[in-house]
Amino acid sequence: MSEFIIENVGLKVGLEIHQQLSTNKKLFCSCTPFESDEYSIKFQRKLRAVKSELGEYDPAALFESSKSKTILYYANLESSCLVEQDEEPPHELDSNAKNLVLIISSALKSNIFSEIYPMRKTVIDGSNTTGFQRTMLISQGGHIDVNGEKIGVQSICLEEDAARLLGDKGNIREYSLDRLGIPLIEIALEPVEGDSKKVKKLLWLLEDYYEVQKRSLAGLAR
Ligand SMILES: [Zn+2]
Repeated sequence: MSEFIIENVGLKVGLEIHQQLSTNKKLFCSCTPFESDEYSIKFQRKLRAVKSELGEYDPAALFESSKSKTILYYANLESSCLVEQDEEPPHELDSNAKNLVLIISSALKSNIFSEIYPMRKTVIDGSNTTGFQRTMLISQGGHIDVNGEKIGVQSICLEEDAARLLGDKGNIREYSLDRLGIPLIEIALEPVEGDSKKVKKLLWLLEDYYEVQKRSLAGLAR
């Protein structure tokens, strides 16, 4: 069999980058983001599919619902509160996370919307106690320069990270709430064509962007 060489076939990839933001609290409450395997609270839930805000069932949610899993949640009171348990409404959006995403959007010359609205992405695999993930569209368009070539940005969102999967056996799925609600930036790029080296270089540049903007924000906060 002849050797498979990607460069002979051609490469086209769509990159969507998710990066936790280094803030000192979660996106919609004051809990400290840290991971620990010590838990003082355990509870269980059953999640079912409901119609979305568009009045339709999400096929993926219906499929997940058909598995009829029991979800066990483990919580540490230092890293989670009633918001993560979905027993209390979300608090105000964390301004540090919002500022950090706005700075990154500006750096990528993305067009920032004048208003921010949390939307609900239906997720009923148990990774979110609410059955949905809160996500906010911050900006659209823009680009990142890679060796003089402009790679387009489709959208930049601010969203909450999912609960941490601990196990999945039979009808039981287990999650830790420590990661749920940590702010995440989601950067969706336009499809990139070229060789694998170019794609790797693009990813490194995005990592640099993130680090530089993080330092800028730390400077602003002082
Ligand atoms: Zn909390």
